[in-house]
Amino acid sequence: MKVKEIKDSNGAHHSWAIKCPGCGYYHLFDSRWSFNGNLEMPTFSPSMKSWIEVGDPKRQIVCHSFVANGKIQFLSDCAHELRGQTIDLPEISEDWNS
Ligand SMILES: [Zn+2]
Repeated sequence: MKVKEIKDSNGAHHSWAIKCPGCGYYHLFDSRWSFNGNLEMPTFSPSMKSWIEVGDPKRQIVCHSFVANGKIQFLSDCAHELRGQTIDLPEISEDWNS
């Protein structure tokens, strides 16, 4: 599967997570996004834009993407090397838990 459900401490649904091959972090889609419910071929809308702090001293990198039909499309304003590309989402293992 390419999407994992994140639950809160009470076991209630919180969000859906994908592992981003561009910035290397997980992106969480909560109730602000629509989801097609397909864990293998997920589509979320609208786009995900993240500002991620890395390094020391800290700097922000932008990761801006659309997830559709199991693929992630990186827009041209991404700060990483996959900008402008569309690639398959990586699998998330069942036992990933955080
Ligand atoms: Zn990312």
